[in-house]
Amino acid sequence: MARLRCWNHGIRLEHWQTELTDAGFSCIFCYNGVAMRVGVISLGCAKNLVDTEWLLGLLKENEIEVVTSWKAADAVIINTCGFIESAKSEAIDTILEAAEYKSKGLQKLIVMGCLSQRYKPQLEEELPEVDRFIAISEYGNLGPILTEVLGVPVHQSYGKQTRVLSGKPWMAYLRIADGCDNRCSYCAIPLIRGDFVSAPMEEIIAEAKELAGQGVRELNLIAQDSSRYGIDRYGKLMLSELLKQLDAIEGVHWIRILYLYPDEIPDDLIDTMKSCRHVLPYFDIPIQHGNDRLLQAMHRRGNRALIKDRCQKLRQVFDRPVLRTTLIAGFPGETLEEHEDNLSLLKEIEWDHLGVFAYSKEEDTPAFDLEDDVPEEEKIRRRDELMEAQSAISHKLLSSTIGTTMEVLVEREDALTGMAVGRSYMQAPDNVDGETRFRPLRPHAPGEFVQVRIKRVSGLNLIGEEIV
Ligand code: SF4
Repeated sequence: MARLRCWNHGIRLEHWQTELTDAGFSCIFCYNGVAMRVGVISLGCAKNLVDTEWLLGLLKENEIEVVTSWKAADAVIINTCGFIESAKSEAIDTILEAAEYKSKGLQKLIVMGCLSQRYKPQLEEELPEVDRFIAISEYGNLGPILTEVLGVPVHQSYGKQTRVLSGKPWMAYLRIADGCDNRCSYCAIPLIRGDFVSAPMEEIIAEAKELAGQGVRELNLIAQDSSRYGIDRYGKLMLSELLKQLDAIEGVHWIRILYLYPDEIPDDLIDTMKSCRHVLPYFDIPIQHGNDRLLQAMHRRGNRALIKDRCQKLRQVFDRPVLRTTLIAGFPGETLEEHEDNLSLLKEIEWDHLGVFAYSKEEDTPAFDLEDDVPEEEKIRRRDELMEAQSAISHKLLSSTIGTTMEVLVEREDALTGMAVGRSYMQAPDNVDGETRFRPLRPHAPGEFVQVRIKRVSGLNLIGEEIV
């Protein structure tokens, strides 16, 4: 009689070693986790990264080894982004690259995240190499799904186990809500992530305390719209209350909020941020445009006057607040005059940091049916014009920090120059705002805070020296 092989590990089996599952014969290694090695790839934004870190926690609790090389992996799980065209292409390329390893020993390929949520039926048809696409709406059932596909028991529900930080152990993203109710006309996020749902405050606080206990010193609060926190769950905006409680957690030194909507930055939130010891005066406010007709066409609340008012208020209340935004260039119907408005608001407000996206239409969004009438090269020209104007503004504002002393969170040492490299409060951890490089007085462990006198500016980077 022919010897049986484990469907999962390819091991030849004795009769007593086998167990018949729906998928085939499984070996003892399938059931004790020893032989299952999983590679995990996280694409997309910080919100997706948090999901990946929960997944890593789930794998760890089930003693499934996570490996970092394709060759060493029995299975690969890719957490995808499906927000815009370039993100979708990156996800498909990564899936195809992983699929090549199926002829070289990779046994299971799983794709989760936004791309799966958005296109699951089409993907199942077009990419049969993938063993399972897991939509975001299935995350509550992640344990049983992974058990079925990987052939090893994966206990506990998704999100109920400890997170494993995948990056720097002194910094963590803290997701306070998911989904979005805003329905901006160009944006596919509500289609993917659904309606806005705030996490219960007690769960956020418990997670923050756990992270602080693990040595996290910097918390970066994220959501699709952080300023809306609480409205669905408590019937009112509760970001102020949340900040007060987070501010009191021992060990957390910096709290930064990302993704504020301009019409949801009331005076009481500003006052709370001012009074909290650890909340940074860092305001990430994606406004998308500086012209009122375009803001309306984008289904954005508020207008140019409100945006200016909020930014002025922030500069009145805080000593040196950091203002960051994103803009869209070449939205359907954008005239040259309206583009000039985008440019002039940027110059009037003088953002510290700016990102500009050339508009690209996304299927199933309200703007998809609008005539995409700004030629591609003109969109790029407008984007570049906005970025060029910003470059001079950023340089001017950054130069105004020369001679000042800043607290810097050390992250690494540049082996070539011996300089320490870290971030000041002006620099979020998402590689957009540059970094701070300085000559240290002594070696520093990553995660330490030190005082640095700023001496000069290089691009978006601050250069300085440590002071006692
Ligand atoms: S606020 Fe607008 S742009 Fe942001 S996620 Fe919601 S719908 Fe998209």
